[in-house]
Amino acid sequence: MLHDVPGGIGDPQVRNWGTIGGSIAHADPASDWPAALLAANARVICRSEASERHVPAREFFIDTFTTALEPAEVVTEIHFRRRPKGMGGAYMKIERRAGDFSTAGVAALTRLDASGRIDWAGVGVTGVSPSPFAAIAAEEVLVGGMPSDELFRKAGAAAAGQSRPAADIRGPVDFKRAMVAELTVRSLRIAVQRALANS
Ligand SMILES: Cc1cc2nc3c(=O)[nH]c(=O)nc-3n(C[C@H](O)[C@H](O)[C@H](O)COP(=O)(O)OP(=O)(O)OC[C@H]3O[C@@H](n4cnc5c(N)ncnc54)[C@H](O)[C@@H]3O)c2cc1C
Repeated sequence: MLHDVPGGIGDPQVRNWGTIGGSIAHADPASDWPAALLAANARVICRSEASERHVPAREFFIDTFTTALEPAEVVTEIHFRRRPKGMGGAYMKIERRAGDFSTAGVAALTRLDASGRIDWAGVGVTGVSPSPFAAIAAEEVLVGGMPSDELFRKAGAAAAGQSRPAADIRGPVDFKRAMVAELTVRSLRIAVQRALANS
């Protein structure tokens, strides 16, 4: 999943100069990294001269261009847990033109148990709300289910239902919700394939 994200950000100049810490501290509601951090519920290390806090990604993104960073803090590290056996993920976005911010983006992580059932899921969504968010309703649909397009469509509908898109130059509200639903299905298909390959 993490490998999918940077290839869709801007162009080589932006990717070479921009940092992940700068991207998440800026907290543009259409930026790509937050979706992946939210899916994995990574820990954001926020450090000042006086203190160090480990903030779960799901508590870090608060609103448009607003994070849990205190005025004297910078992001110094981001911690992801090591990928266990049976886990796979994917990030997919739709953009208006190559190198653009996301019209919608979905990061999906799934872990399969020995019977092939999804026993853990993380879904992060960007571009379609005032702030990127964890699609908890979609995660609840997925956990305990056997992977199938029918299950993924239910999860996609749940993620779309949780989004709060605004109509703008990137498209109308209905279109953006439809994109969240479809991207959720497609990223889940790849996530499960990768999870199977990692079993
Ligand atoms: C042409 C173009 C296309 C782009 N396309 C995309 C895209 O498709 N997807 C996408 O997600 N992004 C895109 N971006 C945004 C890009 O990813 C960000 O500009 C970049 O990641 C910011 O990182 P930076 O290190 O340059 O931060 P800066 O721009 O230097 O900083 C951003 C803000 O965060 C603060 N800051 C920086 N680092 C930290 C830190 N470690 N801790 C606390 N605060 C910090 C700065 O003070 C500033 O307020 C695009 C940008 C451009 C210019």
